[in-house]
Amino acid sequence: MSAVNCLFCNIISGQIPCAKIYEDQHVLAFLDINPIAPGHTLVLPKPHYPTLLDLAPGQGEALLQALRKVGAAVQKATNAPGFNVMQNNFSAAGQVIFHLHFHVIPRFDNDGLPDWAGKPYADNAAMQRMAQAIASIL
Ligand code: 5GP
Ligand code: ZN
Repeated sequence: MSAVNCLFCNIISGQIPCAKIYEDQHVLAFLDINPIAPGHTLVLPKPHYPTLLDLAPGQGEALLQALRKVGAAVQKATNAPGFNVMQNNFSAAGQVIFHLHFHVIPRFDNDGLPDWAGKPYADNAAMQRMAQAIASIL
């Protein structure tokens, strides 16, 4: 499965070049062209799934194993004490390329990259209502 106008499908097919890190039957990983930090890598399934919600059953294991391998290699090559795995779904979340992909970002202590700021629920009842609202859909 591939989408003709999809940039990442064109990278997967070799029509557009990339700085390749890893490839297997199911997954490709290459350097992000505009890295948050040097070594910032994108890991993606070869079939064209626009978002995580479209991922076919059974495809997750190969992706997760590739993320573990690539994450370890990025961390080692950049001497990073940590790394983030990040994944955006839909424009509101910052998704720009609608071919599912995971960002692997090397992290250093006090590297100045923004941390997620948490904000507690108003009270426990509000937290329970939210849990119920989500759980009732599943
Ligand atoms: P998103 O915001 O969709 O989660 O992330 C898309 C990512 O793709 C961005 O971090 C952007 O820098 C990267 N990107 C966009 N175009 C290209 C390209 O042509 N080649 C590579 N290697 N990365 C790209
Ligand atoms: Zn695609």
